[in-house]
Amino acid sequence: MADLSKHPCFNAEARLQFGRIHLPVAPACNVQCKFCDRKYSCVNESRPGVTASVMTPAQAMVHLDQVVSQRSDISVVGIAGPGDPFANTEATLATLKLVHDKYPNMLLCIATNGLCLSENIERLAELNVSHVTVTMNGINPDIVKNIYTWVRLGDRYFTGIEAAKILIARQIEAIKALVEHGIIAKVNTIIIPGVNDNHIQEVSKQVAAWGADIQNCIPLMPVAGTPFGVLEQPAPSLIHKIREQAGKCLPQMAHCSRCRADACGLLSEKNTQVRAAV
Ligand code: SF4
Ligand code: SF4
Repeated sequence: MADLSKHPCFNAEARLQFGRIHLPVAPACNVQCKFCDRKYSCVNESRPGVTASVMTPAQAMVHLDQVVSQRSDISVVGIAGPGDPFANTEATLATLKLVHDKYPNMLLCIATNGLCLSENIERLAELNVSHVTVTMNGINPDIVKNIYTWVRLGDRYFTGIEAAKILIARQIEAIKALVEHGIIAKVNTIIIPGVNDNHIQEVSKQVAAWGADIQNCIPLMPVAGTPFGVLEQPAPSLIHKIREQAGKCLPQMAHCSRCRADACGLLSEKNTQVRAAV
């Protein structure tokens, strides 16, 4: 049985001792956030959506075997893109099953936008996935519609208020289902100045009411060439104020290191991607 206290992203004390490895098996995404540009092989960038390579589930296992043979501090295997795990459901579930079968004591973790999560929660529970992060940037469609260019369900693309309503409804359903299944639910919220910065406490209040365990309010990292690339990064005083307000509703995580989709090692290790040898 995996030891939940060894998750470095959820336990501040564990982060100096235990590390995580991301397996980049999920290249496609089913939404387009206005702050995201998924690039491959950018050695200068350390942020979600960036990876040196995309792997098949079998390649990811070779990579994992290699890493755990070299270091004994990896306690978590995460799938965090570079797209969304559930825009690549087959590869995600196949990878989780391979890891679960070979390393039953490894914690399994997923980071997703939540659009196609709820229909996969039974399967995640069967595979003993213990931690799931849902990025929820708002609960008001009038705000959320400004954050996403489109949302895709199957072959259908949605935009504007319709896209926002679909995404929010499915995120709510997913967070509640995680809680029902006893899976630890973290909500990531990107602080986007002038877009959702006055709305975040409302998000915190609601996700706490639905039973989420913890929230991570992450400052926007403006990426050149994206619609939000022209925005300012939130000031430290704004981040502090938002985390303080949000902390009145549910515990806050403040040690996020904005990991790449192929991050590996302790959270404190810089640019900790490991290039796949497969
Ligand atoms: Fe990028 Fe993640 Fe948004 Fe998809 S959900 S567009 S990968 S930030
Ligand atoms: Fe899980 Fe996110 Fe930590 Fe990766 S960075 S192990 S996906 S919580």
